[in-house]
Amino acid sequence: MIRLGLDLGGTKTEVLALDDQGNVLQRRRVSSPQHDYEATLACIVELVRGTEAQVGRLASIGIATPGAISPASGLLRNSNSTWLNGKPLLDDLVERLGRPVRIENDANCFALSEAVDGAGAGRPVVFGVILGTGVGGGIAVDGALLGGPNRIAGEWGHNPLPWADDTERPGPPCYCGQRGCIETFLSGPGLCHDHLSATGEKRRAEEIAAAAGAGDAASHATLERYAHRLARALAHVINLLDPDVIVLGGGLSNVPIWYDRVPRLWSRWVFADRVDTALLPNRHGDSSGVRGAAWLGRSMRGTDA
Ligand SMILES: [Zn+2]
Repeated sequence: MIRLGLDLGGTKTEVLALDDQGNVLQRRRVSSPQHDYEATLACIVELVRGTEAQVGRLASIGIATPGAISPASGLLRNSNSTWLNGKPLLDDLVERLGRPVRIENDANCFALSEAVDGAGAGRPVVFGVILGTGVGGGIAVDGALLGGPNRIAGEWGHNPLPWADDTERPGPPCYCGQRGCIETFLSGPGLCHDHLSATGEKRRAEEIAAAAGAGDAASHATLERYAHRLARALAHVINLLDPDVIVLGGGLSNVPIWYDRVPRLWSRWVFADRVDTALLPNRHGDSSGVRGAAWLGRSMRGTDA
């Protein structure tokens, strides 16, 4: 079986063909059509047909998008490629391609990729976390995504930061309408905002990490506050889901100190006498979204089962 995955990004759209062992047979990346729904559909259809012509047969089709298909309406929602919101993307692609298509948000595709043949391979329950421009999550159980009637399983970025202290309440306003969401603290912009508030310095996340590594005390303190918040946010997940492995993705997953520091911190909030959960960096990096999309061709749990 050949599996095609497409990663529908805001600026680039990537297609990848995997064989059963996860080997990459074909890979292509094009600019995403902008502000044009019909052109986006045509681009996806052309990438699928062109890739299938190259591998010489039909394949299963999975797509990673920044948003998600609403189970209530069948329309795409919450995408930062705003011209796709409110459109019947799944139905239109099924009609044009004449066969089943699966669509999942990029955090779910990340979790699936890392669960199938990434850092969480062979582990029963994997919680995948994206720490980037936004904060997202996905849950894979026995190598398949956990769905749910609301298609929201694992979306923990817009829960409130747990065990917040007085300096963290009510927390920064979030675009979702709430204040103090996990995303407002643990996203890249959240880290930069926290550093700016504490020091008056406007720095990018990678600059803060580099300065901390070079011995800058204020930058180190910013990373330490972040590690405490990440530990609390993940302790919350461990208490609820008790995953075998938590895999970090997104730009902030590249800061190496989390993998040692956070597990040292989280046990004080986990309601257990010891914590055996593994916290691991991802294996597939920027390819996790498109690889996870390809693996959507495997059977799914929940409403798509
Ligand atoms: Zn929010």
